[in-house]
Amino acid sequence: MKTILFNLTKPELEKFVTDMGCPRFRATQISEWLNRGAPDFSVMKNLPEDLRNKLDETARTLPVKIVKKLESSDNQTTKFLLELNDGEQIECVLMRTTYGNSVCVSSQAGCAMGCKFCASTLLGLKRNLTINEMFAQVLVAQWELRGDKLKDIKPNGDPNNNDVSHIVVMGTGEPLQNTENVIGFLEKLNSELNISWRRITVSTCGIAPQIRELTKWGRPINLAISLHAPVDELRSQIMPINNMYKIKEVLDAAFEFSESLNRQLMIEYILLGKKDENGETYIYNATEEYANKLSELMRGHNVMVNLIPWNAVDERDFASISGNAVHRFQDILIKNGIHTRIRRERGADIGSACGQLRLKNAKK
Ligand code: SF4
Repeated sequence: MKTILFNLTKPELEKFVTDMGCPRFRATQISEWLNRGAPDFSVMKNLPEDLRNKLDETARTLPVKIVKKLESSDNQTTKFLLELNDGEQIECVLMRTTYGNSVCVSSQAGCAMGCKFCASTLLGLKRNLTINEMFAQVLVAQWELRGDKLKDIKPNGDPNNNDVSHIVVMGTGEPLQNTENVIGFLEKLNSELNISWRRITVSTCGIAPQIRELTKWGRPINLAISLHAPVDELRSQIMPINNMYKIKEVLDAAFEFSESLNRQLMIEYILLGKKDENGETYIYNATEEYANKLSELMRGHNVMVNLIPWNAVDERDFASISGNAVHRFQDILIKNGIHTRIRRERGADIGSACGQLRLKNAKK
């Protein structure tokens, strides 16, 4: 297996280059390239060509390597299929938005949670990602944005800014099954890339004790709870984690996080239909009754309910519901005084739901 230079400490990198017969300052040059997200050695133009070739034989730059890159038709979303050093594959997505450049990061290879609507869990959990494997996903996106150019002096929030400004830990995996590394990754983001806590979002399917750990950690990030159903019976059918932590326990922990850190809580709610035996679509978790039950759970709390029209996953037996049904559900929440918005689908033309790219590649 090749040595991953990004994983080496400064003295280790210096030893690596001096063992190759090179002067020590080469380590500083290489390190600058690594911190910009250089995908390989060919881009390191200030190194002699024979050194670049030698490095290529024995080493890799980052702990992730791009296997496939897909661009949405509007050029606003880039999706990467990345390979880790042991051959496992993960996804990460760069979204260029009016408020900045956001990266959706994976926290595990695969996922053990078994949510019935999700593609990422179909092959089970492979393993947790390391701090550097998460950080390198951000560097891949950073390189995509500005290549070998040094940092532009434009404030975050400027649509022409070519820096990553927002992070969502919402890719493959359940971040709170890998809490220690996720916290290490977020601390590194904040200290090394200067990404503010308020521009970081961690999404969980609801591992209540780990939500309480985030509260103890005390950083004012955004917390998103994948709720997807307002009653335990329904939620347990689509999210097995609900058999371990019921809705009340999860929301109590989440409201405590939101209140103690003074952050608005994000509630994620995928709107699902299903097919009956005649092939007709019926509304599954987006009925009027469920909209009212969801409103009761949210009332009096500082929350934003993100409604997500379902993305088709071939292997799952759910169906999309009509735009009218989506708006009817939202209207009930609004009438009940709940803050809500419909999440715009991004990059639907390049692989729709999270996990699909990895899944499709794995089946080849
Ligand atoms: S929705 Fe998230 S937690 Fe659930 S299976 Fe998919 S990746 Fe895992």
